[in-house]
Amino acid sequence: HAKKSGRNRYDWFEPKMERELRLRADLENGILAGIARGEFVPFYEQQVDVETGELTGFEMLARWQSPRLGLVTPDRFIPVAEELGVIAELSESVISQALRDARDWDPRLTLAVNISPVQMRDPWFAQRLLKFLAEARFPAERLEIEITEMCLNENIGLVRSMVTSLKNQGVKISLDDFGVGYATLAQLRALPFDRIKIDRQFIGRLSRAEDTANVISTIASIGQGMNLPVTAEGIETESLRDSLRRIGTFKGQGYFYGKPETAEQVRNRLKSEARLAADTAANDTPAS
Ligand code: C2E
Ligand code: MG
Ligand code: MG
Ligand code: MG
Repeated sequence: HAKKSGRNRYDWFEPKMERELRLRADLENGILAGIARGEFVPFYEQQVDVETGELTGFEMLARWQSPRLGLVTPDRFIPVAEELGVIAELSESVISQALRDARDWDPRLTLAVNISPVQMRDPWFAQRLLKFLAEARFPAERLEIEITEMCLNENIGLVRSMVTSLKNQGVKISLDDFGVGYATLAQLRALPFDRIKIDRQFIGRLSRAEDTANVISTIASIGQGMNLPVTAEGIETESLRDSLRRIGTFKGQGYFYGKPETAEQVRNRLKSEARLAADTAANDTPAS
């Protein structure tokens, strides 16, 4: 008699499991349709020199502009896209857009992109990335790829050969989310990394847990010893920024500096900063 009471009534009695399956199927269909319709777009988060505050580049973070769900963050769609086998397609479409956006920025600014372990299992990944770079006429030296220790688990030989061919063209490689997993010194040596990124959960603990400063300072000296610059992510406050300045030399990113923005917002930001710099230069010129 549930059916007789109308659709809402029926939904109410629908078993939890069935409802979850239906939501999951909706999400999967939405993602597949979203890829076809170009709903996945790059957002950009500023990366700065913590000491000087100078902007050094941006990390691209994918967003899904879903007509039904609004702006969706990657934790919700990346794992599903991986399971559906469409992560490469999704990722490559946002990376291609990002390369074209970043080409118009100041040439000193770098672009960092995140690569899923699933993508690193594909032996043609490196070749395709190099092809995208060429098509976008974007200099390989300005591109950094961020991978996590998950990429080091399986088929390290394949990962190493792809990383080598990317590095031979000038692409940099960062170890993302360092400090939360099981990454060890041995893993830092497993690939020729150019940078370590300390995970944001870890940076957040700086203000709460005493020993965190010691750990971060240890990572900073490991980085120094291995000639690996270190980025701290998730810097949300001025006081975290100040703590990091006391500990060592870092690049940084986080809401204190800026939240992820659209390509257009970045373009406007860079334009107004350039204008500001020009004005300052003009004012500094001694009057004749
Ligand atoms: P991630 O690479 O470690 O990126 C940092 C995440 O922390 C981003 O979340 C960013 O928005 C967030 N974040 C940065 N600063 C702060 C802060 O100060 N406070 C707080 N609360 N959060 C901050 P987002 O954009 O949701 O991305 C989550 C993860 O999804 C990324 O972690 C990355 O692993 C993955 N991801 C993002 N875009 C892509 C992509 O295009 N491809 C792949 N494979 N993974 C992606
Ligand atoms: Mg990252
Ligand atoms: Mg990270
Ligand atoms: Mg992360």
